[in-house]
Formats: sequence, C-alpha cells, structure tokens
Amino acid sequence: MFYNFIQVKIDLQKIVHNFLFLKQICPQLMPVVKANAYGHGLIAVAKVLAQHDVCSLAVGSVEEGVRLRQSGFSGEIMALLGPVQETDYNFLLEHKIIPFVHHEEQLLKLSELSKDEVVEIVLKFDTGMGRLGFRQDELPKIIDTFTSSKLHLKYVASHLAVADYPDDPFVLEQKQCFETICSYLKQVGLRFKKSLCNSAAVLGWPELHCDLARPGISLYGVNPFWGSKWSAKGKGLWAAMEVTAPIISVHRLRKGETISYGRTFKAPVDMKVAIVALGYADNYSRHISNKGWLIINGQRCPILGRVCMQMVAVDVSKVKVGLGDKAVLLGKSGQEVIGPEELALWWGTISYEVFCLLGQNKKVYVSN
Ligand SMILES: *Cc1c(COP(=O)(O)O)cnc(C)c1O
Repeated sequence: MFYNFIQVKIDLQKIVHNFLFLKQICPQLMPVVKANAYGHGLIAVAKVLAQHDVCSLAVGSVEEGVRLRQSGFSGEIMALLGPVQETDYNFLLEHKIIPFVHHEEQLLKLSELSKDEVVEIVLKFDTGMGRLGFRQDELPKIIDTFTSSKLHLKYVASHLAVADYPDDPFVLEQKQCFETICSYLKQVGLRFKKSLCNSAAVLGWPELHCDLARPGISLYGVNPFWGSKWSAKGKGLWAAMEVTAPIISVHRLRKGETISYGRTFKAPVDMKVAIVALGYADNYSRHISNKGWLIINGQRCPILGRVCMQMVAVDVSKVKVGLGDKAVLLGKSGQEVIGPEELALWWGTISYEVFCLLGQNKKVYVSN
C-alpha cells in the first residue's frame, strides 16, 4: 500500500518448522492456505511447502485454487468453500481443483459435468458445526449421484466445532457421527479417504487423525490450546508473522494533559510520549485503545488513549527512543514478545482475525 508505513515480515522458515513439527505428530497433512494463507501470502507459503514435499493444499475459494495452480503448484488442490459462482464449475474442471461439496445443487451440477470425464470431489458432512455440509439423513439421496455419473468420491470430510476445548465430549460425538456416515458410504460400495482434523485436533486428539488432516492456524505458529490446560501440546510452534511501524514523533506530556480523541487518557505525572505511524487504516484495531502495548527497543510501552486512523501514542517515559525507531506490535524485540494470542486478547478477537487483517498490508519475506 502507498499510504502507510506498517511492515509485515513473514519468516517462511518458521512455517516450515511448524509444518515439520505437525508432521511428526500426524504424517498425512493438507496444509490450509485459505484467505491468502491466513494473511501470510498464498503463493509464497505454497512454494516453500512444496519444497518440503507437500502434495495437497486446501484453499478457500475456487479462484484462489486457480491462482495457486497458475503459480505452478502441481499437487492436489482442494477448495473448502466449494463452487460458489457459476464460473467456478469450469475453473474446477480446467485446473483440476477438487471441491468440497456440501449441497445437493452442487452435486447435481457436478454429476452433469462428469458425464464424459472423471470429476473428483470431497463430500462434506455436517456432524455438529451447523454450518456447511450434508446431514446424515441425506445419505440415501446422495449415493445415487455416484452410480449415475463419473463423479469420483476422493474424500469424505467434516469439521470440528470445539476441538480446541480440552476434553470436550462433543468432539467425540462428532467423531461418532462421522464414523457412522463413513460406514454407511462404505457399505454401499464407495471407496474414499477420510478427513476430520483441524490444527487443534491434530495436536490434541490423535484418535481423530484419519487419512488426512487439515491444519491451518498452527502452521502459522499459533498454539490452539494457548492459555488452556493443554497448552503444552502446542509449545513447539513459532509465530511466523512479525509486524512493526516507525516512530514519527517523541514529545513531553505534562501532568494533567490528555492524549488523542475523546481525551480518554490523562497524564497522572509528567511523561514522555512517542507517536507511532500505526492505526486502524493499517487494520490495527481501535479496540486496542488504552489497552494494548507496543515493544520499543526491547521494552513494553503501554498504548495511551485512542488508536487513530494512522497514529497511536505510547508511553516511552522509561525508554531511549528516537525518530524512525521501530515499534513492534506483533513479535519480538530484545527479551520481550507480543504473541498473536496476546494481541488478539487486547483486540477482543482471535489470532486468526489478527493475521487475516494485518496480513492485508505490504509484506516482506525472510528465511532465517
Ligand atoms: C479453516 C479450516 C481448517 C483449518 O482450521 P485451523 O483451526 O486453522 O487449523 C480446516 N478445515 C476446514 C474445513 C476449514 O475451513
């Protein structure tokens, strides 16, 4: 972007490290690179994973799959959202993208298209997420499609709602439902592989691994069990995204003076304040006003007053700072670290949203 100064640094080797860490736990992985690889950049992430023999990737939209294919990725590409627009159907065939199919209409269209050529699909079932997928009671009408066309059922999949909640029995209820569905499909003669796990399930629920797991957030370094009693399970993951912005002013604030719109912060004593070129125009949320911290030259500095469109103020009374110094909003400086989970907490959201939003800024890639 041309109007801002935020810098998003992606360390691809950390993504590789996380991938290898997950692979030790569960050997069959299809990394999820939807939504521009959770803001980390679809093509860059796919390239580095392909160098480590990844042969299956999951995108969100079909068009994202087309982009991935055109970048030269020759492995299996699955589109988690399935065909949404009319044009998606031709894209699927042309670029050999395997859709997740969750609706009868999609199934009918695809079976039409598979009169002359084999079309591979994933059937997605709703086992408790209540979002996308066929229900168990739809099974009888689904199976007819496979006898009357060249539709090839490659995988059967479902998605877990609470895999990141340690010991939640609903995870096993979903697994039970999934197994019942798979047995039914096997009984009628279909052959396929099974996929159920997201990141949390890869780390926390080994009995659910099946044939192919779909880790997303853990690949980018977030521990899905952060702050819970299972937090040790994701300790080996490293955040791949670091974000900084430059200081553009340093000045005194006298006792009793206020900062920023609404005068929500009033100096209790004489202070030194730095203004950082960072704000909600950079997707740094206004919810962080008076709450979060930045790290400057190895020290944590609290945010003072409201986050503005392109500026935020921090207390640097005890820090040596100069114009142009970098303030870290996500990542490490000296001994201090702000992790994605902690930033998400101040923001009032989850690490996924933090990555997707900050990742919309200009990115630079490093390999350390
Ligand atoms: C996003 C997504 C995943 C990955 O989930 P994480 O929690 O990021 O590991 C897996 N499966 C489906 C269907 C998804 O939509």
